[in-house]
Amino acid sequence: MKRVAVLGSTGSIGTSSLEVLSALSDRLTLVGATAHSRWELLAEQTQQFAPRVVVVSDASLSGEVDRTKFHPDTQLRFGREAVAELASSDDVDIVVTAIVGAAGLEGTWAAVEAGKTIALANKETLIVAGPLICELAKKTGSQLLPVDSEHSAIFQALKSGKAAEVKRIILTASGGPFRGWTRQQLESASPEDALRHPTWDMGPKITIDSATLMNKALEVIEAKWLFDVDVSQIEVVVHPQSLVHSLVEFTDGSCIAQLSPPDMKLPIQYALTWPDRFEGSSPKMDWTATWSLDFAPPDRDLFPALDLGFEVARRGGSCGAVLNAANEVAVSRFLKGDLKFNEIPQACREILDAHNFDPDPTLTDLTRLDQWARQETLRWTSSPSI
Ligand code: NDP
Ligand code: MG
Repeated sequence: MKRVAVLGSTGSIGTSSLEVLSALSDRLTLVGATAHSRWELLAEQTQQFAPRVVVVSDASLSGEVDRTKFHPDTQLRFGREAVAELASSDDVDIVVTAIVGAAGLEGTWAAVEAGKTIALANKETLIVAGPLICELAKKTGSQLLPVDSEHSAIFQALKSGKAAEVKRIILTASGGPFRGWTRQQLESASPEDALRHPTWDMGPKITIDSATLMNKALEVIEAKWLFDVDVSQIEVVVHPQSLVHSLVEFTDGSCIAQLSPPDMKLPIQYALTWPDRFEGSSPKMDWTATWSLDFAPPDRDLFPALDLGFEVARRGGSCGAVLNAANEVAVSRFLKGDLKFNEIPQACREILDAHNFDPDPTLTDLTRLDQWARQETLRWTSSPSI
């Protein structure tokens, strides 16, 4: 029995993780879970799983949460410290990091520091602090297992050859809801348009990131840290069907791909049960049907976020923390209707160029830069012309 904690259990990845746990209840058990504000859903989850502890990370809600809604055997705690404590508890083997944004860094850090196995969904942790997290993981023996579908595919495909035989890693991108749109159409793209993802059902932030291709940009950086490859070995190809989740090309020209229907339960399950595989609850390919697989190069002019990702992956240092913070603020402004779609990558470019590059930042430096970039982006997005 593997003992699991799910940080961010009320989100898209969080609820899918609980479905995986439910389908494999003879192998996986929920020890703890966290939500930020949706405590009613968290309370419902305790009724099904009766975990030892749950945390509402927004401590200001402690006065309004109805404790009677939670399972009587589950302890209810509040605040960020309680999240970090859960992530490093002795009775936890695997931590699913399913909090969205840089807010996920603290809990992931605590889990890595405690040497836990990490089922890593919160890619922002690696964007902000890739080198520090990898160094810490090496020191504590913590294992980072990818949940992101592309990285799970690469992790699986890499087993077909030796590290020295890897020529390229090819990340597939669905292209998002705006594949084929003109520049003019993009200028008036609304949050509703951008939230209508053609193949994946995900939380709002990553859905907007998929529409700008910032998600793929962040995944380039994520791949660099997870697989220790040179940025020149990473490529992106648009594959609208989202069936091939990524590929590894070996030196002899052989490309090994991983295919499955677009559903996150499979990569979540693989991270939780690795190195073993079980039937589980994720949908399977129907090989009696007719399938088409299309591949095309991305439009880098129309979606400039992608080049930002490659640039930040190459430069490293403080760039990831700044890009991530600028993007989080710009996305939230766009979702509120305060920023145009095209201004999201523009804001990121401006703030990245304006920051004082630090090639070797500490965790404290990164936290300070994150705050600086958020303020600057707020300022820029209030009057983009300055
Ligand atoms: P959601 O928005 O659906 O869920 C986010 C979760 O984080 C919720 O449980 C939410 O709590 C919690 N949360 C939000 N803000 C905070 C905060 N400040 N402090 C602590 N917890 C917080 O996101 P997704 O599930 O879509 O994404 C989660 C992570 O997984 C992201 O890093 C994303 O990039 C990554 N990922 C997601 C994929 C997907 O298919 N969705 C695919 C690949 C990667 P509450 O509900 O109470 O607000
Ligand atoms: Mg992905």
